[in-house]
Amino acid sequence: MSRSVLVTGGNRGIGLAIARELAQAGDAVAVTYRSGEPPAGLFGVRCDVTSTADVDAAFEKVEAEHGPVEVLVANAGITKDTLLPMMKEETFTDVIDANLTGAYRVAKRATRGMLRLKRGRIVLISSVVAMLGSAGQTNYAASKAGMIGFARSAARELGSRGITVNVVAPGFVETDMTAALDEAYQEQIRKNIPLGRQATPEEIAKVVAFVAGPDAAYITGAVIPVDGGLGMGH
Ligand code: NDP
Repeated sequence: MSRSVLVTGGNRGIGLAIARELAQAGDAVAVTYRSGEPPAGLFGVRCDVTSTADVDAAFEKVEAEHGPVEVLVANAGITKDTLLPMMKEETFTDVIDANLTGAYRVAKRATRGMLRLKRGRIVLISSVVAMLGSAGQTNYAASKAGMIGFARSAARELGSRGITVNVVAPGFVETDMTAALDEAYQEQIRKNIPLGRQATPEEIAKVVAFVAGPDAAYITGAVIPVDGGLGMGH
């Protein structure tokens, strides 16, 4: 299986684990990176998902290298946590722009090639907080919940064209994003996880690879939790 795969935010964390998992399965994997260096062994294109011009240029480079993108993983995301009464409007809109509008930008651009191919897989990385909510994360939770409505609508539009659109909703994963949280707060979250621990990025990557793979041909519009039970019942 050597499909043209693009993972946004694939230079570190969950995105890098997803890119490595799919590359190991034999796909031609490209990743976007915004800062720093591209990861060794993967085709890297610099792209800020808040820029439509960047997204378009990145797709053009990937298409020239590997052909039209058949599997898109919209993983790039940020947090800017603040309690609502103190949250500046730009703190809200910056997170929506990167996480939700960013997913729209890359998914829209990916459909161009997928509609021609008459097949494709789009996987959006949301979060358990889309369903649970999280104090200090009204901006982030809104962006991640928005991805679900977006994915389900796109799944309805694109299903007849052989394109699936699914959401993977991780819980609490060991990456830079969670390492930045206060240790006491991290411990409090761990206490609420039935499996009692954080996920590794690889545990998220395995599920994304499944949803993007041949055995998931009949799954679309789904929200798949990979959260150790944290979001159970929501
Ligand atoms: P990291 O903070 O470790 O990595 C974030 C990635 O997104 C980086 O590659 C970063 O690029 C990229 N990125 C951020 N903003 C932009 C942008 N505007 N344009 C392009 N790339 C951008 O995060 P994680 O690996 O932890 O998270 C990955 C995804 O998983 C995110 O969408 C996150 O919301 C989600 N998630 C994470 C959870 C967790 O517990 N860690 C739980 C649930 C969901 P750069 O290196 O250049 O900054």
